[in-house]
Amino acid sequence: MKSSFARPVACLIAVSSLLASARAAESPPPRLVVLTFDDSSASHHAVAAPLLKRYGFGATFFITEGFTFRTNKRDYMTWEQIAELHRDGFEIGNHTRDHLGITERTLPRLAEQLEAIAAQCRAHGIPVPVSFAWPGNRFHPAALPVLAQAGIRFARRGGEREGPYALGGGVAFEPGVDHPLLIPTTGDARPDWTLSDLQRAVARGGPGRIPVLQFHGVPDGEHPWVNTPRERFEEYMGWLHREGFQVIALRDVARLIDGRPVPADPLAPMESRRRAAAAAPVYSSDKELIDVRDAAKVRARRPLLIAHRGGVVSSRVPEASLAAIREAARHGYDMVELDVRATKDGAPMLFHDANLRAATGHDGPVSALTEAEVRALRFRRNGEPVAGLEQALLLCRQLHLGVMLDLKDSPQVELLRKVATLVRKHGLEKSTVAISGHPLVRAELGDVALVPVSPEELERTKAGETLALAGRHWFGIPAWLPPEMIPKLQRAGALVFPAINLFRYENDSERAQAKRDVEALRRIGVEGFQIDSAYQDFFGKALP
Ligand SMILES: [Zn+2]
Repeated sequence: MKSSFARPVACLIAVSSLLASARAAESPPPRLVVLTFDDSSASHHAVAAPLLKRYGFGATFFITEGFTFRTNKRDYMTWEQIAELHRDGFEIGNHTRDHLGITERTLPRLAEQLEAIAAQCRAHGIPVPVSFAWPGNRFHPAALPVLAQAGIRFARRGGEREGPYALGGGVAFEPGVDHPLLIPTTGDARPDWTLSDLQRAVARGGPGRIPVLQFHGVPDGEHPWVNTPRERFEEYMGWLHREGFQVIALRDVARLIDGRPVPADPLAPMESRRRAAAAAPVYSSDKELIDVRDAAKVRARRPLLIAHRGGVVSSRVPEASLAAIREAARHGYDMVELDVRATKDGAPMLFHDANLRAATGHDGPVSALTEAEVRALRFRRNGEPVAGLEQALLLCRQLHLGVMLDLKDSPQVELLRKVATLVRKHGLEKSTVAISGHPLVRAELGDVALVPVSPEELERTKAGETLALAGRHWFGIPAWLPPEMIPKLQRAGALVFPAINLFRYENDSERAQAKRDVEALRRIGVEGFQIDSAYQDFFGKALP
């Protein structure tokens, strides 16, 4: 509006459209999609824009000078290229100067961060942005007045609040329901997305609901965990074009929002959707989530395969990563082992090693850093950020993978309670096994996980006593358990999960030994195996 008053013609148009919108906001036409791009990737100018122009699509490009923007012009646009996007009719949005994750602590820096991008826009003949994307999709309600003060009218977040988001599936934007500064992402493109993922996101649109798509680079050199290969992107846009979708920038939702009320509690719409989603969970895998409390069901499916090291690991997939979990689902595992370590501020993270160095390059343990600091670290193998336990559990639930919890630190009540809450929150309390036999683990996790048979219970079973061991399991390397003990434990109700791990069988003759162990244990009828993916061919699966 500020600039409209300087130009009478524009002012008239603005006023008349304002009057129109005051009468009644339009309801969205049925085939409408909002398209957004984050992080100033060079491919936005080189690949995305020419294609969008060909199809007559609008889009918003959210600009930050964060990451290596200033020096790395192979991966990031120049301001001249950004100005060209504007001249071509695309919207330039604000993504903060330094890609500032917005928390209570960083809030005082937000105004200055927004102004830095606005100033660059003015200097390059680009209108001051009215749209904003929350960096890293993290938002804070206290930032809303700061955004409004800076002239931001529309802001896009992720979709984590409503439910599982690790695979990039969120909810549609509902004008008049969602706060305009907390517009959800409906589809957040992932490297392993295919056209059907995009179609699923777009299908969430409909009367009163607009799908909002979020892309990073197409391709993305610096953020491989959100990379979209060029061919995929072309396929997605080609499909939207053929299907006759109208593709718009975020600012274009103005005509759908104007005149509608803003929710008094900006978080309320998310909360009610989250509750509704929890009541009717969405599944994405064909396999049924295993119920480890139901021994008969487990035996009907035996041997269960539990992926050691957080999933299926390869030269491109680090252990204890979300990518490894996805691979485990793809390879048809029943469960994954999740390694848990606590940060300095007590957040449970998914991480295996005692030191972060080998996997991420940062020298030191998880416990020396805050959650925010650990989340900022990336795996050397694939560039993916280190994940929290909650993200891992969400993903497991979504992929129908049971969980074997390996708590790496010495047990602390507070952490164990957090873990138990998360297991319950994500509906995995019948699908989780804890492998520590520490009394605290037994006490705190016994309700949400099978816990190990204690040494005393093992001794008494060995001596011929028949105990009630339902809700217990035995886990360890085959050499630790005499074969005749297996049926005894099973009769008492316990499940038996031998581990076939690389560090036990290091060379080829040991691989042969591992194979013999598996065959013998299968004959006895153990309920499952925890294995490294190097041994999955023993179970008829192709090696990764
Ligand atoms: Zn970003």
